[in-house]
Amino acid sequence: MSTQEQSAAASTLEGTTHSPDVVVVGAGTAGCYAAATIARDGYDVVVLERKTEDEAGHIACGDALKGADAFPESIPKSHLEPAFTNTGVDHGRFEIPQEDTVLEIPIPGELAVIDRWEYGRRIIDGAENAGADFHYDTVVQNVTQESDGGPVTGVEAVHKGDPRTYEADVVIDAAGSLSVLQDYVDFSNSTFDTNVDYSHFCSAYREIVHVEEPVEWSDALVFKPTERAAGYLWYFPRTETEINAGLGFQMSEEPMKLVDDLKYDLENRAEFDGATVDDKLGAALPTRRPYDSAVHPGYVAIGDAAGHVNPTTGGGIAGAAYAGKYAAEAIIAGLEDGDLGEKALWEYNERVMDHFGARYAALDVYNILSTAVDVDELMGLLAAMPGEKLAEALYSGSTSIGPKLALESLLNSRGHWGTIWNLFQTKRRADELLELYEHYPDHPAALEHWQQRRDELMEAVYETTGADPKY
Ligand SMILES: Cc1cc2nc3c(=O)[nH]c(=O)nc-3n(C[C@H](O)[C@H](O)[C@H](O)COP(=O)(O)OP(=O)(O)OC[C@H]3O[C@@H](n4cnc5c(N)ncnc54)[C@H](O)[C@@H]3O)c2cc1C
Repeated sequence: MSTQEQSAAASTLEGTTHSPDVVVVGAGTAGCYAAATIARDGYDVVVLERKTEDEAGHIACGDALKGADAFPESIPKSHLEPAFTNTGVDHGRFEIPQEDTVLEIPIPGELAVIDRWEYGRRIIDGAENAGADFHYDTVVQNVTQESDGGPVTGVEAVHKGDPRTYEADVVIDAAGSLSVLQDYVDFSNSTFDTNVDYSHFCSAYREIVHVEEPVEWSDALVFKPTERAAGYLWYFPRTETEINAGLGFQMSEEPMKLVDDLKYDLENRAEFDGATVDDKLGAALPTRRPYDSAVHPGYVAIGDAAGHVNPTTGGGIAGAAYAGKYAAEAIIAGLEDGDLGEKALWEYNERVMDHFGARYAALDVYNILSTAVDVDELMGLLAAMPGEKLAEALYSGSTSIGPKLALESLLNSRGHWGTIWNLFQTKRRADELLELYEHYPDHPAALEHWQQRRDELMEAVYETTGADPKY
């Protein structure tokens, strides 16, 4: 009898109780990669998804998949490729209407614009091929846990009106942005990061727009600040005639009327004359540093549920896929050793910080700066900066500018020298933070001391940028 059959049989005997080794909540990128990795190792894993089987994988997104060349192997890349509708994009096109300028900035690494729903179905299919079981129409409404902040033991869900209980050695929280699961766990006995606020999120909305004539910028991701409020717009070409058009704003800013503001911009672009729209979706995404720790005994948060998004670009698919892999590998080791405590799972935190978490924490400093600087001033400065260096800063969290380039940039940017000085000082703060994150502790007991040092650096960030404290 296979493990899945055993689990199914147990559920028949016990009515509504299922007892897999691992329960994953959420069939998005993070959940599917985690489930595929664990199932490939022979463990019994069930993915719970609130959407129907038909709707699963339909997720609000800009459809830009960065780093597709190096995705985790638990779901083979060849399985995803049919969802890649445009692999010819090699640069960002920053439209700066205030300066009447268009900045062309190269995008390092491989990038594909994708049909997100098709991609969503394919990762589910990939995890199923690896041996994971999916329960759709299943809304998780509670997390079960031993008393006094002890280990998590499972979840309670509702399937088409009927209660269902899942008991597992580990619960993986892959429920996305603003995951409700964390509201139900008592984290008082672990260092799991609970310093999360609505202002750490961006509210975003997108439409899939069809145009009659091919757009001229089908090899570019187009970005533009919104005219009527402090937000930004994007136009990402899925094909020459199918465009993902969207916009978002940081929730700490004045709320925007996303649907109206997108309509306003579309109406003012000649290439969208006579365009039709066939899909509309909106959601929140974290634009913050990654969680300091995303593990509690028997519980691991991954992807958006742990803040694994590049806070300057909003790109979160790659981080979610890797967080899924790293969490799964720590869990597999824990299942083998019979230890799923905080210390045993800690390696997951370390691998996230090492791969992308440190970088994202440093990039968050620029996000903080942007809340304190006048948008027109910032755009004026961007227009005067060298494109390759901006690209480096956007993706690596740091950049170095040689003396010749620095002099040229300075001459180009007369009138913005105050902001340049501010940016220069901010970069120093971001570099200090990056260095500290590169020394992220290797066990939970050392976290508090590390956090104290980090919080001192954050004080310096607020002082330098003049921004209100974010955390
Ligand atoms: C408008 C928008 C545009 C974006 N554009 C891009 C982009 O171009 N490129 C990029 O890389 N990233 C982009 N992102 C970010 C990216 O979409 C996310 O970072 C990524 O999807 C995170 O994956 P995840 O698996 O963590 O969460 P999700 O993909 O959100 O998956 C979470 C899953 O959990 C399910 N779920 C939630 N709660 C429950 C519950 N209680 N019970 C059962 N199931 C539950 C949900 O239905 C969902 O299927 C964008 C985000 C938004 C909102």
